[in-house]
Order: sequence, then structure tokens, then C-alpha cells
Amino acid sequence: MTDNLSFSNRLQTVRQRIQRACEAYGRDPSQVTLLAVSKTRQSEELRSMAAEGVRRFGENYLQEALQKIELLADLGLEWHFIGPIQSNKTRTLAEQFDWVHSVDRLKLARRLSEQRPRHLEPLNLCLQVNISGEQSKSGVSLTALPSLAHQVAALPNLRLRGLMAIPAPAENFEQQRIPFRLMRQALEQLQTEGLQLDTLSMGMSSDLEAAIAEGATLVRVGTALFGPRPPRTV
Ligand SMILES: *Cc1c(COP(=O)(O)O)cnc(C)c1O
Repeated sequence: MTDNLSFSNRLQTVRQRIQRACEAYGRDPSQVTLLAVSKTRQSEELRSMAAEGVRRFGENYLQEALQKIELLADLGLEWHFIGPIQSNKTRTLAEQFDWVHSVDRLKLARRLSEQRPRHLEPLNLCLQVNISGEQSKSGVSLTALPSLAHQVAALPNLRLRGLMAIPAPAENFEQQRIPFRLMRQALEQLQTEGLQLDTLSMGMSSDLEAAIAEGATLVRVGTALFGPRPPRTV
């Protein structure tokens, strides 16, 4: 079990990385949100991180996430779902999460829209883009994105916020920037077409600087905050 001191140190380091990248690339640090990616972490680890001031957590696996949401309900945290979505699980996502980053089909968005409880705020949504064009990866293609985005934006009980991507690993900083730049251009194009989008969910432990350089507004950081990831147990 990692102690709170190292959580505190790691968090400070990650915040410094974000701060320095903002300074280097002319970004306003208040425009870059840190999402703590907590898949495979125990609820007590999240509680320690929350005690350090982290409010937003990203989860990939639904069953595991639901346990933590329940155990940490007293903290009033913001929960983001960032993993692959099974269409028979959309109701739980619509009921339990504040954000879903990994929508890549109209069918999923329609279900989330229908199933979002009316007493809650609209569900915040990002469309996941398969930005490196990898055969095996989820995400909508850049070609199919505009049509999907306009249809999703028109659905009730949802708020389409922007785009999310997990690019293929790259050799160096300049290579890392290329897919992030394509993401920024895709977001700007949709804004030009009239969609009110404010979110680029991109950048992880190994490439958050490149993502910030290209306009990331939300970086999803796991390993750099919590340390090496233990295997899944749930
Ligand atoms: C695991 C994961 C992350 C965090 O990755 P790290 O390299 O541990 O920072 C970010 N986004 C998604 C979608 C993930 O699955």
C-alpha cells in the first residue's frame, strides 16, 4: 500500500508538470483539469488522493467503479467513465456518472440520453476518436466524427462537451504532438460548424505535455499519480 506522503509528492509532481507545460505553451493553467485515473486502485487510495484535494476520478471498469462510488459517496466526488462501453450497461452509466468520455456510436448516446435520470444534470459526454486509425481500437473515425457529433449534440439530457482520444504510443515529443494536433483541429472544425464544445480529453502520464501543447483541457493521469498499476482483481 502506498503511503500518503508519496501520493502527496506524486500529485505535486504532476501538478508541476501541468503548470510548466502551460507556461511553455502559453496555456492558462485554470483551463487544464486533472482527472485522476483510478482503475485497479483501492477505494482507500482514492480517499487518500481526495484528501490531497483531487475531486475528479476516472474509471474504466463498471463493476469496480460502482463499488468505489458507493464506498466514497460521502466525499461528493465527480466520476468520469473512460473505458469501453457495453450497450447493456448504459443505464448504470447514465445513473451513476457525471461524465462519459468513451462514446463512439449514436446508439450508445441515444441510450444514455433516454436513461439519464431527469432529476440529474445533463450527462457530460465526450466522443472518443480513433485518432491513430488503429484497427483494434474503439473510437469514431475522423471522417465519421462530424455527422456523429451533430446528431449527439441534438439529444436531450446530455451535454456534448468535446472529444477524447488515446493515441498510439509515439517515439518522441514531436511525434506525440501529431495526433493531438489533429484532435485540436477536429474540435475547432466542429466549433466552426456551431457546436458549443469546450473539452479536449487527451494526455496521460507519458504524454500530457504534448497534449497540453496542443490544447488539452483535461488530462487523464493514472500511473504518475498512483504509481505502477496493480492487476485487476474485480
Ligand atoms: C489507464 C488510462 C489512462 C491513464 O493512463 P496512465 O498511463 O496510467 O496515466 C488514461 N486514459 C485512459 C482511457 C485509460 O484507460
